[in-house]
Amino acid sequence: MRSTEGKRLGKGTWLDAPVHRSCPLCGGMKHQPLSGTMQHRLDLATVICQECSLVFTNPMPTEEVYSRFYTDAYSHYYGHITSWPTRAMEPQHVRQWLDALETIRPLNDLRLLEVGPGRGQFLYWARQRGAQVVGIEPSRDFANALAKEGLPCFNDSLEHIGSDRLGRFDVIAMFHVFEHFYDPQIALARIRSLLSARGLLIIEVPNILKPYRSLDHYFLRYVHPTNFSRQTLCGMLAK
Ligand SMILES: [Zn+2]
Repeated sequence: MRSTEGKRLGKGTWLDAPVHRSCPLCGGMKHQPLSGTMQHRLDLATVICQECSLVFTNPMPTEEVYSRFYTDAYSHYYGHITSWPTRAMEPQHVRQWLDALETIRPLNDLRLLEVGPGRGQFLYWARQRGAQVVGIEPSRDFANALAKEGLPCFNDSLEHIGSDRLGRFDVIAMFHVFEHFYDPQIALARIRSLLSARGLLIIEVPNILKPYRSLDHYFLRYVHPTNFSRQTLCGMLAK
């Protein structure tokens, strides 16, 4: 077995991957290997489905191990809170999203949920424009920091939080979050149950067809078990 920095953290054996799975999009069993390396040398195998071309990690760690990675090791790889953003002005990418949203529907009094708000930029500025906002944030550090700013946020996961705590939403937003779910279909079903009848869903994900840096050592990640293109993302949403 390879020696990696991933294995020395905590008790978890992050790289044991006993779960061989069918394609999370089409259920197909035929796939071709694409890569054996990932960012931070947290190396799991990446495959491409021969039926629908979805790119995904296969085999996977168990769901329990994958969840524990987030609580025990994620902040080691992806940073503690070092500098909290000022709220002096809307960041450009937030402004673009909120402007686009307002061309469809006024934000005033909309119920808006962000899954994984992180440092809360979108949540904060959506509230400044009048939306009633709430976040679900699995990281305790981020959730506590948002609470200190008075931003409503559950320290929980989308899959496990009780529906009675949330109600229904006019807008649900996920920025670079959807590719993290252990099972994206289960996450989508959950989101569907939380959206109001004419609700809007915003999903932003990295595009596997346009990797912004090295595929093997940067773009493919332990924490991204599913890698979408426009086609496979639309396919999953249609399903
Ligand atoms: Zn497939």
